[in-house]
This record gives sequence, C-alpha cells and structure tokens, in this order.
Amino acid sequence: MSTYDITIIGSGPGGYVSAIRCAQLGFKTALIEKYDTLGGTCLNVGCIPSKALLDSSEHFHNAKHNFAEHGIEVSGLKANLEQMINRKAEVISQTCNGIKFLMDKNKVDVHYGLGSFVDKNTVKVTDKDGKETILSTKNVIIATGSKPNFFPGMEPDKKRIITSTEALKLSEIPKKLLVIGGGVIGLELGSVYARLGSEVEVIEFADSIIPTMDKALGKELTRVLKKEGFKFNMQHKVQSVTNLGDKVVLKALLLFQTFTQSEMLLKVQCWRTKLKKKVFM
Ligand SMILES: Cc1cc2nc3c(=O)[nH]c(=O)nc-3n(C[C@H](O)[C@H](O)[C@H](O)COP(=O)(O)OP(=O)(O)OC[C@H]3O[C@@H](n4cnc5c(N)ncnc54)[C@H](O)[C@@H]3O)c2cc1C
Repeated sequence: MSTYDITIIGSGPGGYVSAIRCAQLGFKTALIEKYDTLGGTCLNVGCIPSKALLDSSEHFHNAKHNFAEHGIEVSGLKANLEQMINRKAEVISQTCNGIKFLMDKNKVDVHYGLGSFVDKNTVKVTDKDGKETILSTKNVIIATGSKPNFFPGMEPDKKRIITSTEALKLSEIPKKLLVIGGGVIGLELGSVYARLGSEVEVIEFADSIIPTMDKALGKELTRVLKKEGFKFNMQHKVQSVTNLGDKVVLKALLLFQTFTQSEMLLKVQCWRTKLKKKVFM
C-alpha cells in the first residue's frame, strides 16, 4: 500500500495547484483524477477550450467586419467549425500534457480512477476496469469541483438541449441559439456562435446580465453584445424546455417588477410581481 502525507482528489485548478505546492513544501503527494486527462473542468471543458473558440471566432468576425476598413480584402470567407473544434482539441491536449509534466517534475504521484474514502486516512482509487488501489494518507484535500446545474423541466438531452460542455464541440453552427442564463459562461459561448452567424437570444431571470457583478459592467456588456446581434429577455423565469425533434420550445414567465418606497423613505422594498407567459422557439 502506498503511503502519502497528502492525497488530493480532483486535478482541476484547485487540485493540481495544491499538489504542486504540497510537493514543493516537501510532502509526499498523490493526485487522483477520474478522467483520462488532468486539468479538470477548466482545462478540458471550461476556461481553456472556451477561450480557444472565442479566439477563433474573433478572427472570423474581424475578417468579416473589420478587415475591409484596413484595406484587407477577403473573398470566399467561410467558418470551418470542424477545424476550429480540432484546433481547440489541440490546445486542450497541450495544456493537459503541461499539467502532467508539472506533476512529474514535482514528483507528484498521479492515480487515475474514482477516488473514495474508506476511512479518514484511507482512500480507494477505482480505475475504469474496476481495479482498486488503496492509498494510506495523513491528510486529504477534496478538490472535486462542480457540475452544470439544471432545474426540473430543463434537463439537457445533449442533442438540442445542451450544456456548455456540448457547446464546445458542436458539429454545425446553429441557426438559432437560446441561452438560459446571462452569466459569463452562457455569454461567452453565445458570443462564439453569434460571431459565426447564429441568432443568439438570452433568457435571464435577473434584470441585467452578469447579475452578480457591478451593474455598470452588465450595462456595458449588454451594449457590446447587442452590437454583435444578441437579443436579451431579462426578468424571465424559464419553466420548461422541450425538444420537439426539429426545434426546441422554451416556455418562460415574464416577471414585471415594480419597486416602491415608503413615504418616510425607510427603504421599504415592496415587490409586486405580475406574471405573463412567453414562448420562445
Ligand atoms: C465553459 C466554461 C468557461 C469557464 N471559463 C472560466 C474562466 O474564464 N475563468 C475562470 O476563472 N473560470 C472559468 N470557468 C470556471 C472554472 O472552470 C472552474 O471554476 C474551475 O475549473 C474549478 O476548479 P476546481 O479545481 O475546483 O474543479 P474542476 O476543474 O471541476 O476539477 C475537479 C476535478 O475533480 C475530478 N473529480 C471529481 N470527483 C472525483 C473523484 N471522486 N475522484 C477523482 N476525481 C474526481 C473531476 O473529474 C475534475 O477533473 C469556466 C467554466 C466553464 C464550464
């Protein structure tokens, strides 16, 4: 049985950075990852692949809209999505291999398989073939990350109703794309496809996009994205999303909200909500 000072479950940015630091501090360190490549969501289906596609789509957008102003003429311009996706895969491969190199360089033992606790000082790794390895460890860092979140009635079928993971490997540019949620991930991937020619419409529950950030940022980003052709539906609560085969129907409630203040300026907030149904296709 291998014995470690520290065992880390999950090789995303949380896990691999911890592993490097622990090893640098002289601890015997193990890193467990259930997928075949290191780097977690960020490197495999998150930050890195989305930026690779943003980069490619920006080049296309510039060639289509901005080159002529600089005296650069392009004819027969066409977006080759397959090549963009292949390039993105190459970027992922390079960065994931970079993490493996860092693990080797820092003498971190990588164990591929699903990590689970036997007890607080014993971790079991079960690989794809069901083979089990037991690690004895003084400490454990859990860095298992997160998964996309859905509400009942909007479960993805991974064909027409998709998450960001599928949006990173589409085989064709969609004619129309409805994005549920005006947060950074939806807007980022919406941008990729808007630049490539998709009609993109955002359905957002709050009264502005990127609602957890400064209002001014949301306002400015709305302006920029509208120029790219985005349509926005704020204060809409999605109720259901249905794949009808050749199209998807999304039903949402439009929330009219009015803010009233008491005469004594006591900052009493009174929200009146009227609901109106709206259907998007
Ligand atoms: C499309 C997209 C774009 C994004 N862009 C950005 C960005 O630009 N900037 C930014 O800061 N963030 C961005 N993020 C968010 C970022 O990816 C996450 O915040 C980050 O990956 C979280 O890191 P983590 O290490 O906590 O978890 P993760 O990266 O999710 O890694 C967790 C790892 O643990 C593994 N694991 C889970 N359970 C087990 C188990 N039992 N045994 C073994 N292994 C296990 C998983 O397979 C995974 O590899 C983006 C996310 C998405 C989806």
